[in-house]
Amino acid sequence: MAIDAEAIKEHIKGIIVALGDDPNRQGLKETPDRVAKMYEEVFEGMNYTNSEIAEMFNKTFEQDLELGEGDKDLVVVRDIDIFSYCEHHLALMYDMKVTVAYVPNGKVIGLSKIARICDMVSKRLQLQERIGTDIAQTMQIVTGSEDVAVFIEGCHSCMSARGIRKNNTRTYTTTLRGRFKTDLSLQLRAMGSNLQIERNNDESTSTI
Ligand SMILES: [Zn+2]
Repeated sequence: MAIDAEAIKEHIKGIIVALGDDPNRQGLKETPDRVAKMYEEVFEGMNYTNSEIAEMFNKTFEQDLELGEGDKDLVVVRDIDIFSYCEHHLALMYDMKVTVAYVPNGKVIGLSKIARICDMVSKRLQLQERIGTDIAQTMQIVTGSEDVAVFIEGCHSCMSARGIRKNNTRTYTTTLRGRFKTDLSLQLRAMGSNLQIERNNDESTSTI
């Protein structure tokens, strides 16, 4: 369902009035228009399901990876910056960093596509936890691999700028799928806890 920009304009105007201001004064005149345009951009992901996002960024490369040793292979993309909006307050979630890891299953996805998937699923009314499950599900569809892990950290302005006002509080969420659920060494490698060991190990095929 496409975003209804006209309805957003009307409602933003209504909010301005409800706040006791004059929507026709100079500074506010164009505001409903601007907010509608901004919402179309920052909520673009509302227009698509996870499957449609997977379809959109379905650029994979069939790899002649030596898959005999496949369970040693791991791709990790770290510190992908995203923004999102919490569905409880429509408040900005910011300073968010996403790490996505997966075990390739015969094909690999273009690395920039991983960042684009993170971006698009975060452009919805979201919960940090659901951003993780949405990314994991979309990655599973695109890569054909069950083994996906997503780590997210972020600040929520509904906590930092209002209410309890805890400025420096960061929220960490982990989404584990497939072998990541049970294989602790895979989890640790994805989190980067033993990168040093990895680097000293010729068998490592991690992409960091
Ligand atoms: Zn919130």
